[in-house]
Amino acid sequence: MEGPPLARDPATPAERAGRRSRLRTRLAEIPGLHPAPRGLLEERGRLTVEEALGFWPKAWQDRTRPTPIAALRAGAEGLVVGTVTHARAQRMRSGKPLLKVGLQDAGGRLELVFFNPAPWRMRQFAAGDPLLASGKVTEGFGGKLQMAQPEVEKVQPGDSASFGRIVPVYAGPADWQHPALRKLLKRLCDEYAPWTVDDLPAEVRRRRGLLPAGEALRQAHFPPAGTDLAAAAARATPAFRRLVFEEFFFLQLALAQRRRGVRREPGIAFDLSPERRRQAVSHLPFALTGAQRRVLGEIAADMARAEPMNRLLQGDVGSGKTAVAFVALMLAVQSGWQGALMAPTEILAEQHLRTLRRWLEGSGIEVTLVAAQARGRAQREAREAVASGRARIAVGTHALLEEEVAFDRLGLVVVDEQHRFGVLQRARLISKGVRPDVLVMTATPIPRTLALAFYGDLDQSKIDELPPGRSPVTTRLFGDSQRRKAHEIVRRELEAGRQAYVVYPLVAESEKTDLADATTGAGELARLFAPHAVGLLHGQLKAEEKDAVMERFRAGAVRLLVATTVVEVGVDVPNATVMLVEHAERFGLSQLHQLRGRVGRGAAESHCLLVAHFRRAGDEARERLQTMVRTQDGFEIARVDLALRGPGELLGTRQSGQHLFDLADLYRDESILEEARTEAFDLVAADPDLARPEHAAAREALEQRWRGRLSLAQVG
Ligand code: ADP
Ligand code: MG
Repeated sequence: MEGPPLARDPATPAERAGRRSRLRTRLAEIPGLHPAPRGLLEERGRLTVEEALGFWPKAWQDRTRPTPIAALRAGAEGLVVGTVTHARAQRMRSGKPLLKVGLQDAGGRLELVFFNPAPWRMRQFAAGDPLLASGKVTEGFGGKLQMAQPEVEKVQPGDSASFGRIVPVYAGPADWQHPALRKLLKRLCDEYAPWTVDDLPAEVRRRRGLLPAGEALRQAHFPPAGTDLAAAAARATPAFRRLVFEEFFFLQLALAQRRRGVRREPGIAFDLSPERRRQAVSHLPFALTGAQRRVLGEIAADMARAEPMNRLLQGDVGSGKTAVAFVALMLAVQSGWQGALMAPTEILAEQHLRTLRRWLEGSGIEVTLVAAQARGRAQREAREAVASGRARIAVGTHALLEEEVAFDRLGLVVVDEQHRFGVLQRARLISKGVRPDVLVMTATPIPRTLALAFYGDLDQSKIDELPPGRSPVTTRLFGDSQRRKAHEIVRRELEAGRQAYVVYPLVAESEKTDLADATTGAGELARLFAPHAVGLLHGQLKAEEKDAVMERFRAGAVRLLVATTVVEVGVDVPNATVMLVEHAERFGLSQLHQLRGRVGRGAAESHCLLVAHFRRAGDEARERLQTMVRTQDGFEIARVDLALRGPGELLGTRQSGQHLFDLADLYRDESILEEARTEAFDLVAADPDLARPEHAAAREALEQRWRGRLSLAQVG
């Protein structure tokens, strides 16, 4: 093992506190730190030792063994150590400056060439300097070996930060700063890393073969000789494995504790006799699919237990989650409780309202809409109906979370989130009643890793079967200049009596331009497809205007609906068979998948037509579009989406600025996540409050890591 030995795990709280505060020493208080690299770290908000140690290298170089100059071959990369013999400034034929530096070792000579060097470079070398150079070897005039634009570093014999080992390369504004930064971090690794408190319980480390914390930190910066550099760059060395494990472990520990906390709260045991269940289902105009029946069985079992339900229901667009939610709500209502159904947008809330009212026609059970605006008589009455218990089911957006909305007897909350709710918001509704059961529905299937990482405290159900009578959707990609072909398909469908959507992207920065796009587009389409009526839906319409347009589309008076936003197209019109997306390159994969899910809801064959400006599209956009053409499988699409975008964006947490993981990568580190999860949940099962002395460090770390940050842990 390199470097000073690690101190043993501290046993007393005072010892741990001492060590933690030592790691929080401010760089500014450490005597003799080079100000340039320190400034570089401080500029990046890394003011303390701990923060500086979290500044990971971007790459590594193997400097274990330099090549003797005599053994260099033209065309290959080389690393040499020698002594400067001379430095000579010259001019190129163009008049630009050129610097040539001679380097020799025991067996040979080499010339380093710098084109157009900066002024400081001109003064960098003096004869006699020990120097390390790396770069590509070329052959100059007369077979003389050269290295053009090499990376160079002055080294002292015995300078262990930069030489004789695998050395880290840090991102910095100029390469001359790397050596100084490296030396600074080497010092922190030697003097401070060994004092890191290991937050992972020793038994977990042993079982999973993890490096101690201090050693992991040191090796993450300065990997031991023989480390595979590609593995280091892929963060696949034992050091990073330990650090990634730790990140997952503490998130899972929070989820495990939360889940356990929920379980301990008194919940509602609904009366769910088979007769009751038959009764709830009897309102539906169709028979449930096998998958719907199965997940309802899981939900009903939860609801019948006195423990609060905390369940995630996954199902692709159109898989019939609303029907499942409805039956669950009815189960609550029949037991004398109220239900709430929360949708991500007003239009979707209104659609749910309409659907539920249709299914409940003649039953005498009242469903009410809680709108965002509390003003107006209708809304005052709606809120009062909820408070008095006259309304048995309340449907709404996040308005349901408002303080003025009081329920008489809230028993079940269904959150139809479609990835739009921040995880945070869910918490509030829950605090409104005693402890209602919670069912979270997500439209885009979540890859298993993501579900484990972020919904790990929820039980999971999955609808993996579409209702009968669905037709596949053919997806086609058109270049901007081929729009006419896409329009022919639209025309054909309109003439066959079907309806169509045309969607324009919404870019927040330029809402006016987008609106202009859509308005112009709608005008052109109206001319093009006359006499078929065209309607326009955009974000700047008032709610009543939006409703009116939607209603006319639903009733078939409007044949072609032009819309600017994705959200508002979350509607269910089985006669619509074409979804044409303009500027498809600007949409995310899951958005495109959601849009496509709007068609193919009836028996007729449907079309998804993606019109893209290829020239403006980057590689990632192309990959998205090709994925859409290739597959209709929501899980496959979610998997690609995760790989392309990372989890933050997928979960909509990016806006909230939450930095979820530093090193961990859900896509790459799936198996580590599984291990960390097992350990965390086992730990909480064995020692729920982490009260045992050997878990004290973990308990402290959990508090410190997530304090004020873990809205995630507040997940419904
Ligand atoms: P999701 O919310 O999962 O996107 P919906 O609940 O909106 O899907 O269902 C899509 C359509 O399928 C709706 O028109 C719904 O009435 C219909 N549907 C749902 N379940 C069934 C079923 N078992 N049989 C027939 N049609 C169904
Ligand atoms: Mg739905």
